[in-house]
This record gives sequence, C-alpha cells and structure tokens, in this order.
Amino acid sequence: MRFIQLAFPLPMDQEFTYSVPQNLYDEVAIGKRAVAPFGQRMLTGFIVEITSEPPFEDLSKIKRIIKVLDENPVFDPERLPFFRWLASFYISSLGEALKLTDPYGTAVQSQKFIYSDHATIEKFISLEKNQKTSRYRVMQLFLQKDRYLLKQLQNLTGVKSILNTLKKMEQEGIVTIGEGLSSPRVRSKTERFVKLIKPLDEVYAAIPEIERRSPKQVTILLKLASFKTKEAPTGKLLKVVSGSDSSLKGLQDKGLVEIYDKNVERLYRETYTEELKSFQLTEAQVKVIDSVSPYIKKREFKPFLLHGVTGSGKTQVYIELIKQVLKKGESVLLLVPEISLTPQMTARLTKNFGDKVAVIHSRVSPGERHDAWMRIAAGKCSVVTGARSALFAPVKNLGLIVIDEEHDASYKQEEIPPKYHARDAAVMLAKQMNCPVLMGSATPSIESMFNAQKGKYTLLQLPERVDGATLPTITLVNTTEMKKKGEMENVFAKSLLTKIDERIKKGEGVILLQNRRGFATQVYCVECGQIEKCDNCSVGMVYHIKSNNIKCHYCNLVKPMPLACSRCGSKHLKLFGTGTERVEDELAFYFPEARIQRVDSDTIGEKGKLGETLNKFRDGEIDILIGTQMVAKGLDFPRVTLVGVISAEASLWMPDFRAEERTFQLLTQVSGRAGRSVVPGEVVIQTFDSNNPLLQFVLNNDYLGFYNRDLQSRQFRLYPPFANLCLAETRDKDARKASDALIDLYKEMFRLNRSVAVLPPTTAVLAKLKNEFRFQMLIKTDKKFDPAASALRETISKAYNIVKKSGKHRDIRIVFDMNPYSIV
Ligand SMILES: [Zn+2]
Ligand SMILES: [Zn+2]
Repeated sequence: MRFIQLAFPLPMDQEFTYSVPQNLYDEVAIGKRAVAPFGQRMLTGFIVEITSEPPFEDLSKIKRIIKVLDENPVFDPERLPFFRWLASFYISSLGEALKLTDPYGTAVQSQKFIYSDHATIEKFISLEKNQKTSRYRVMQLFLQKDRYLLKQLQNLTGVKSILNTLKKMEQEGIVTIGEGLSSPRVRSKTERFVKLIKPLDEVYAAIPEIERRSPKQVTILLKLASFKTKEAPTGKLLKVVSGSDSSLKGLQDKGLVEIYDKNVERLYRETYTEELKSFQLTEAQVKVIDSVSPYIKKREFKPFLLHGVTGSGKTQVYIELIKQVLKKGESVLLLVPEISLTPQMTARLTKNFGDKVAVIHSRVSPGERHDAWMRIAAGKCSVVTGARSALFAPVKNLGLIVIDEEHDASYKQEEIPPKYHARDAAVMLAKQMNCPVLMGSATPSIESMFNAQKGKYTLLQLPERVDGATLPTITLVNTTEMKKKGEMENVFAKSLLTKIDERIKKGEGVILLQNRRGFATQVYCVECGQIEKCDNCSVGMVYHIKSNNIKCHYCNLVKPMPLACSRCGSKHLKLFGTGTERVEDELAFYFPEARIQRVDSDTIGEKGKLGETLNKFRDGEIDILIGTQMVAKGLDFPRVTLVGVISAEASLWMPDFRAEERTFQLLTQVSGRAGRSVVPGEVVIQTFDSNNPLLQFVLNNDYLGFYNRDLQSRQFRLYPPFANLCLAETRDKDARKASDALIDLYKEMFRLNRSVAVLPPTTAVLAKLKNEFRFQMLIKTDKKFDPAASALRETISKAYNIVKKSGKHRDIRIVFDMNPYSIV
C-alpha cells in the first residue's frame, strides 16, 4: 500500500492523507500535484509526503486520489522546508504557500453540471402554476440548452443558492446533477506540423505522377523540400501555397509526408534592445566583486548589502558575478522590481547570457510563464530573472541570489496570503540553499541598512558614478512662493518650463515625475464641498480626460463625468489634484512641437509597449517621458539631463510609518535618472514645503542623514526594525460580521499573552473597498524581547485557532500581514 499527504491551497493549516491506486504508484512523487476528492468537490493538492504505512487504523476513511497532474515535480522536494517556513512566518497554510510554485492556471477542479432535455422540460413546465419562481426560470433556460454549469445557472437566475432548488428538481426527475473536472486554463501548446519522410530523390521521382492529378500537392512538396528541416507548421505552409487540408492528407496517404502534433515553447521576447557596451570595471566595482566571489566559490551562505549611488554600475557587478556562478555550472536567481526595470535589465542579461535567461513577470503571458517554468524545471535556464514571483521558480542548483533595488515596495506581496516579502524570503532561501545573496540599492531600506549596521549583513559600497558621470545638482522650487510672485504657469514653475525648453532644443532627454495617474485626482463641488466618491469604495473618483470619465483606481468602476454634484445638484464642479494626464496635457500646450510620451499603468497595458517606448526614448524619438513612479525606477539613459518632479508631496500624505522613507527613495531614485554620462544632469523638485527636512536630505544626497533620522523616529514609536508588526484584517459586505470576528480575536489575544501589544480593532483608513467593509488590528512585539517574532506568531495562531474552533465566524477570513508595507 502507498499513502500520500496532500496540502491544499485552502486557508486551513492541515495536510490530508490519501491512498494511491496501484496504477499510479510510479507516478506519485513529492512536489507533484494530485487531484483528489475533498468533501463534495475535486481539488488539486500538492504531494508533500509519501509513506507505506497509513497514519491511522481505519482504512475505510482514507479516500483515493484520482490522478497525478504533473510529469515532473513543480517544486523541488529540497525546497519543502522553505515553503514550510514561508507558511509559518507569514501565517498562511502550507498549501497556500505551495500555490506560489504553481505554473499558473494548470490546476483542475471539479465543477457541477446540470443536465435535462427538451421533452422532459415540456412535460413539467406546463404543470407550473407560478411563473415567477426560480424553478420556472430554470425550466425556461433548459428549453434553450441541455447542459449548464452550476455557475452559469447561478448567474443567469441571479440566485446564489439555486443548488437547493436544483436538488429538489433532481428528486422529481426534472434535472440531473453531475460532476465533471474542469479543464486546466493553461496547458502545453502544440502545433500541427508536416514533414517529408522520404529522401529527396524519391520525392522528386514521384512528382510527375502526382502533377497530372493534383498540382497543388506538388507545390506543397517543393515548398517543404526547400526548407532546411524539411518540416513546417501546417497552418503557415497552407497559407503560403494557398493549399487545403485535403492536399496534405493526400500526400500523407501516398506515404510521402507525415502530419503530427509538436510541442512548441512560448518564449517571452523583450521588445527593448540594447548594444553591448565595452567598459572597464572601476576599482570600487572590482572590490565589491572580490568580496562576494569567495562565497560563490565555496558556495556558502552570506548576505551582502550593496549600497551604490545611482549610476554606479551595480548591474555590471551582477553580470560579472553571474559569469562566475555559471562557470561553476550553477544557477542564478536575479529579482528585480515589477515593471519598469525589467526591459533594460532583461535586455542586458540576454545580451550577455543568451538563451540561458528565463524571464518571469506580470507582463509575460500565462502561456509564456508556464513554458518558462517548465524550461527552468528541466534545467535549461541557469539565469532566472523576474519580479517577486520568480523567487518560486523551480531553479536548480542555486549558486547566487541577487535582489536588485532591494528597497522596492513591489517585493511585498499584498493581495493574498501568504503576504510575503520577496527580499526577506530570498535571504531565507539563500540560507537554506547555502549560497550568497546580494541585495543592491542606491537607497537601501531602513531594515536592510539596520541589518548591515548590526553586522547581520555585510555592507559593500559604490560611492561614485561610472563613466565619468557625476551626481546631478538638485534644486527645490517652492510653488507657494512662486504662485505669489506670479512665477507659476498652471502646474509648472516658469523656471522649469525654461529648462525643459533648453534641453529639448539641445536634443537631450527629459523625465517628469507625477506619482498619480489620471487627470484630476478629485472632482469637488464648490457649493457643498462634496467629493465624488466611488460607490463601492471609500475613495475619491479620479477624472480621466482622454476618456472623459471618472474612475475608481481601486475597483475600476467607471462612470461618466458628472454634470452636477451628486449631493446638491449644483453644476459648479471643480477638478482638484494633478495626475499624469494633466501634466501631459499642459506640456503639450507649452511645447506643441515636442514628442511627449506618458508612462503609467494606463498607457503600458499592452505587452511590449513599454519596451518600444524606451527604445524610442533612447534613440531620441521621444523628447519627454512623463509618468508615475515607473519612470523613477532603474532607467539608465545617458541622454537624460533634466528630471522634473511636479509635486514632491504626492506620496507623503499616506498615514503610514513608511511614507517618508518611500518619498525619500522615490525622489532620490528619480533624480538619479539625470546626468548618467559626462553631460552633467539637473533635477528640479517642485514642493510647497521646501523646508521639509526630508527634502533637504534629498537635496544633499544624504542617505545616511535620512537613515539616522528615520531610524530614530521608528525607535521612538516602536516600529520595524525595532518591533515585529502584524496587521490582522477582515472584510465583508456586512460591517458587523467583519468587526465581530476581529473583536473576538482581540479578546483571545489579550487573554493569552499580555506582553503582545494589540491595538483594539478599528475601521481601516480605506474603510470600504469593492463594496466590502474593512477592519484592521495592529499587533506588535518589541524585538528586544521577541527577536524572531515567535511570541507574536505563536499568540496569533493560538488565538486564531480558538476563534476558528468557536465556529462563530465561519464565513469570515482573518488575513494576516506580517511586517506590513501598507497599513491603510
Ligand atoms: Zn454639491
Ligand atoms: Zn471603487
């Protein structure tokens, strides 16, 4: 007998035992997925253990698995301890953590199908007296079609609990309820191919005979013969020769060709390209490389923090180190922030390492991602790069992990449990795989610098720019004062406009940052003060001028621009707050000749669009890039000599202990885009509070000054890195239900351990999102007494289990966010 333990991606921290039917003995392996009955459903779970002994006596209670999904494991059994750590540290189930390894969309689940037929329905429908019931509605639907998914019937009738009605109808013999497995959303892609299977002389010899009756077949043969591989995808081939399937079939019957399905790989191609530059490593770069190399050679865990100013050549350091790892026959994982950094980084890696590179981020299609995953699992790619989810790619034989721009907020997963931080998790992975890990940034996170200063990480530095470039000069422009003096033109200071004009005339590049998208961030009634809010969320609607409508950036609700105030009916509406569209619009007014491109999530939705934009900007076909934080990240264009920040305060208003850190990083990073060659760069930051100490640190490029001040304030208020923090959150359409569950958790935690500080539950700052009310509770321990956060996590999980067992809040999920990045 053989038994396996399955972990399901469900919010229950438990694994389940199943038996393996004999015909599947050879297929089961740790790391593969299996489909198994779970309650009333069929679910896909991860095999985490195989045993020959059943865990308990009563074998009748053990169900059998239905099938094994994968040919090869989707995660390396060696990585299982890492996923167990991830689940435990970030307070999720093991199955939810393992779901991160899933090559997306390939899981199968059971679905309910409802069947009936026309004759049966006609017999019963005439007996129905009340035509307003959902039962009658179901019958009407079956007059049109014989089969529905349960989900379809729920949607079509608008009755969620329609299954109860259907069960009664099944007893009466009106419908039949069946179970079936859904097909996976993504599978390996195959394409139909045709190939010559006879030697060329035999093919030519056969031609005269064929030519008389089917000249089209001859065209096909000649075309195939002209290919080096003597094969072609049938679709393309038939198009070229305007042939038909029957001609191909005819050739197959004659034994001259073979038609078959071939697996084709979907490969992500970066649209941005770049020439390989020749260069000489600087002394500082060599020193950094020499510090890391010994640990690559020994393959030993060692965390490094590389603090290098913008333009100091961090990427080249990574590339040199990657070469060393590849020479040893090992692999490298290189994490980069989401979106804008990837085109340039990918292009550089591909130039250096060709086909060995696999790219994984959100602009890669599910199919491409699936195939990349498979290539990595097969050991074909030794340089794996991508956004945070690349951390879970099945990379073999890991010799180095690099985390570029380690401070970037996109490394924190904030949507679903486990809400992990990819940088922190990567350090843990490196520790378990016993390899060095290098974290690079021009503006290291407070946490990482603190770790470096305490000796947990080794600090490496690149204090100078490469290529003879110097750091740009930064000026602050006080917009309040300028307005008084009449020196403002709408959102621009006149001095900034003059500078833009000079740079464009010289053919140099300009980058402008406004970290809000849309046109106006608020629609405001002058009569009654009402701000147009989203119907589903407690946030203001943003006006978009291109589409002339208002949008909610949280739930994507779109409405036409209102003609009058929704509260008092006044037509006196005003637009407030500046978004990227407005800056673009005004720029076009002042510089009608300039070529302007906006870069934000509204404009780069299309795949490959960002890469194309960057190509054009590099080649001088675009003069000004205007965008959100996307233009601040990692872009390296020597022709950029001017960077303008429209309003420095755009991200400071957040009631969040990281708001200042984020703003400092954003402004320093965007400034760093200027002057990356011998032509000196210049940065203009518009602000209404030029005395803000934060801006002074940016102005003086004083990272350590900023770090020391922020660290002090965090120590004083007991925030990370001095405290362990966890945010518990509930949401529901019923506000009462959501808050009650948290209140019970609060009471339990308070009872269990008084040294864990729990703030009473409150409504979240964004109190309503997507029509659900949100409640939050902040839980804290002092690192002095709880260095590894074990007291914090233990108390949480004990209290959580008590609340769950009470069964009072069965339909409310309490989600935990360990070391949260956003507490709104
Ligand atoms: Zn009004
Ligand atoms: Zn909304």
